[in-house]
Amino acid sequence: MRNNTLDEVLQTYGVENWGAGYFEVNRKGHLAVRPAEGDPRAVDVKELIDDLIEQRKLQLPILLRFPQILTNQLKKLHRAFAEATREFNYTGGHYPVFPMKVNPRREVIEEFLREGSKYNFGVECGSKAELYAALSLDQTSASLLICNGFKDETFINLALMGTQVGKRVIIVVEKLNELKMIVRRAQETNVKPMVGLRAKLYSKGSGKWASSGGESAKFGLTPSEMLECIRLLRENDMIDSLKLLHFHIGSQITDIKRVKNAMKEAARVYSKIRQMHIDVEFLDIGGGMGVDYDGSKTTFESSVNYTAEEFANDVVYTIKSVCEDENVPEPNLVTESGRVMSAYHAVFVTSIRDEIETFADDQPEVAVSDDDPQVIFELKELYDYINSKNYREYYHDALDHKDELHTQFNLGLISLEDRAKGEVLFWEVCSRASKFAQGAKVQEEEFDDLKKILASKYLCNFSVFRSAPDHWAIDQLFPIMPIHRLNEQPTDYATFVDITCDSDGHIDKFVDLKDVKEVLELHPFTGEPYYIAIFLVGAYQEVMGSYHNLFGQPNEAHIVIDTEGRYHIKKTVQGHRVGDMISFARYDRQQVFESFQRMTRERVANGQMSQERADELVKQYESDINRYTYLE
Ligand SMILES: *Cc1c(COP(=O)(O)O)cnc(C)c1O
Repeated sequence: MRNNTLDEVLQTYGVENWGAGYFEVNRKGHLAVRPAEGDPRAVDVKELIDDLIEQRKLQLPILLRFPQILTNQLKKLHRAFAEATREFNYTGGHYPVFPMKVNPRREVIEEFLREGSKYNFGVECGSKAELYAALSLDQTSASLLICNGFKDETFINLALMGTQVGKRVIIVVEKLNELKMIVRRAQETNVKPMVGLRAKLYSKGSGKWASSGGESAKFGLTPSEMLECIRLLRENDMIDSLKLLHFHIGSQITDIKRVKNAMKEAARVYSKIRQMHIDVEFLDIGGGMGVDYDGSKTTFESSVNYTAEEFANDVVYTIKSVCEDENVPEPNLVTESGRVMSAYHAVFVTSIRDEIETFADDQPEVAVSDDDPQVIFELKELYDYINSKNYREYYHDALDHKDELHTQFNLGLISLEDRAKGEVLFWEVCSRASKFAQGAKVQEEEFDDLKKILASKYLCNFSVFRSAPDHWAIDQLFPIMPIHRLNEQPTDYATFVDITCDSDGHIDKFVDLKDVKEVLELHPFTGEPYYIAIFLVGAYQEVMGSYHNLFGQPNEAHIVIDTEGRYHIKKTVQGHRVGDMISFARYDRQQVFESFQRMTRERVANGQMSQERADELVKQYESDINRYTYLE
């Protein structure tokens, strides 16, 4: 049974728009997570968090991982391509790989490979470290290990080592020089590599990463460079090593039209190479399938105007049409989707610690007496007589008076008490003006800004630089909402500030169906625990997050939902402690202990401190090294 409040709350936060069937609100007004859309089982996240805090003694912030969501996203991708293949009688296979740069965590990759063993699921890496880790992973013999990115000789040697232990490694050439190295190392080691060519397409993606494709892209080979590569391979009798053609037109492609255009161009390039009697088996279409972060289903930056099914259908259909036209065999398709595969599985949960108000509306009435300065009288007058007809004019007058107040204060004409009184009156006028403006038929920008200024700032126990860096770096939107009290109407407007000493450490843009919200509807902060979740942070955020202010990685819990619908805390991973962070900044534990101890010894020697107090301090300093870096 749904009630009206719950319906309104769902609308406010848009859960059904961006939740992809994984997230919803239960009857208790708590956030619930399902392992798959339409699955009857659901976990009450508020109860789970209480359990983690009380039973497992884990402190917030906590990153929750739901491996079943990873599995389900993989199944969806597989199903979309399997159905498209069937529908269009496509004769090539589908070889999905997971790009490690999106989330290199062992648990994430292992989960994908475990489930993906049914679907030839492999791995893509773009650096030596990623490849090094990938070489240790169990993959099925048919699945691929794709090596993209700029390469040196060590990288190429690692790839050849992979080939020698039986992995299907494909080294994708980004630069002609890399191919020269590959040819030389192959001859020296007598290992036969599989080689791919990364094409620089004329087609671009759309949205923020459009410049990953197109003529001025950082990556890939121009047609003349590709022909040069082919010549070099032929010359060295290695043309049968050329197995794959690769392109990637950028992440978070918002518009399906761009996908189709790129497929047309890439399929032509593939066909032309094929017609040169080269058995290129694979066409690697890269990643780019986007996530609908705001749930609007549009071409807006934080959204996408297509589904996985539509994406797969368009890819398969377009490539098939071109191959028929060119009369060449249909290639096996490699997809490198990362974002859409891993974004949903991680939910970051933390708590509100305090409220920073521009103006506290619960202050006692300001009394004005005869000896108060003129400017205060005038502000009091505005406050007393502001109404729905004059609020604009009175608000402008109040702005003038506030300037006057500060001028007089700086000239030493009025006291600190006067200034305080004047400021309270000013904000009272603003608050009344804002209420009148919200009741008006036409919403004016000036008063939208005022609403934002008057909104509280909720002090949230996290670092945006660590846990949602793309919000700070590129204005990426993430859905955010409380995980409880959702059967109560949220009556406050607020933005979030994090606990770093950086004024960029805030979140003041929120998902909305039609627009971007500048304040979020939240419940009044009473001092009781109030938990907030940031969603869809499983792609890129963890690995791109930084250690600003030496806030470390949060505690983590891996949650599995059993057949009865009960949750199991499969694993908890302790986040960074103070000691980890000081080591990161190259402090030595032993050395910091000794330095601190020396300081206490000097105080004791000078008679400024008792030995007993010194011992206590040293003990405390040593034990605090194991503290969580966030507010406890
Ligand atoms: C980043 C990247 C991907 C992953 O893109 P998503 O948008 O996350 O799917 C795939 N291939 C290459 C070459 C990449 O650089």
